[in-house]
Amino acid sequence: MLAMFRTVFAPVVLALGIGGVLAPAQAPSAKKAEPPKAMRLYVFDCGLLNIAPAGVARYHVTPAETGETRMPVPCFLVAHPKGTLMWDVGVIPDETVEAMASKGGAHFDVNPVSAAVVTRTLKSQLAAIGYSPSDITYVAISHAHKDHSANLNEFASSTWLARPVEREFMWQKGNERVEPSFYTKLEHSKSVDISKNESKDGEYDVFGDGKAIIKAAPGHTPGHQVLILQLASLGRVMIAGDLYHYLPERTFHRAPPDNEFSVQQSADSRAKIEEYVKKTNTTLWIEHEWAANAKLKKSPAFYE
Ligand SMILES: [Zn+2]
Repeated sequence: MLAMFRTVFAPVVLALGIGGVLAPAQAPSAKKAEPPKAMRLYVFDCGLLNIAPAGVARYHVTPAETGETRMPVPCFLVAHPKGTLMWDVGVIPDETVEAMASKGGAHFDVNPVSAAVVTRTLKSQLAAIGYSPSDITYVAISHAHKDHSANLNEFASSTWLARPVEREFMWQKGNERVEPSFYTKLEHSKSVDISKNESKDGEYDVFGDGKAIIKAAPGHTPGHQVLILQLASLGRVMIAGDLYHYLPERTFHRAPPDNEFSVQQSADSRAKIEEYVKKTNTTLWIEHEWAANAKLKKSPAFYE
C-alpha cells in the first residue's frame, strides 16, 4: 500500500518541482489501472467554495455554529471489479483550471454568495491512479448544481445513470442553478434511466451485487440522489450529496434551505434517509463538510 503510494505519487511531486506549478495535461500517468479484486473508493480534491455570511444563513445555521464556513468540493471514484463509477465531477471544468494553472488556480462565482477556487484538475488526479475519463464505465451526479457537474463533458463516453426529472431540470430554460455548457455532450450520450430500473424505495444497484446503490433523495433538486457503498473494510457509507451542507443542520435538525427546489421534499428525504442510515448502520458523509472532508484519505490512497 505504502509502496504503491510512493510510485504513483513521486512523478507528480517531480512535475511540481520542475515547473513550479503542476501542468495537468503533461503530468506523467500511472500505468493503466487493473480492475481491483475488492471495491475501492477514491476521494479527489475538486476545489473549495468560499461562502459569504448570507450564504451560510441560507442553511439556517450561523458561522459560530459551523466554525468553518468554507465548503470542500470533493469528487469520488468507485472502482469495482466489474467497472467504475464516477460520482460528482467538480465546480470548474478542467480546461479552465489548466488555463489558469500559472495564476494559482481558477475562480468561479457559483452565485453571489459562493465563490469557487480550484487548483487541481480531476483528470490529472484520475491519471495519477491509472484512469482516463474515457475508461470510466458509469457517471452519475448527486444533482446538477454547478458545484457537482463541471466536468460532465469529459465523461460523454461513460454510461450516464440519470433520472428524467433531473434531466428536465438540467435543460430547463432560465434555470440559474445550473450551467448547461458543463454537460452539452451528455444530451445525447449513452444513458440508463434510473427511474425505470429502481426498486420501490428508489434504489438503483449500479453493479448488480448490492455494493453500490444510488438512492433517490429529492428536494434539493427534483432528482437529487445519494450513493451508498458497502466496502469490505470500511463498511457502509453514504455519500449524501447536498442532503445537508453543514453538520449543525443535521445535529440541530434545522429546516432545509428556503431555496430548495422543494423544501417539503427535502424535509421528507432527510427523514427517510436518517431512518435508513440508522436501520442499516450506514455512516453518512456530508460532501461539503469541511472538518469531515479534511479527515478523509485522498487519492491516490483509497478506501476498500
Ligand atoms: Zn453542492
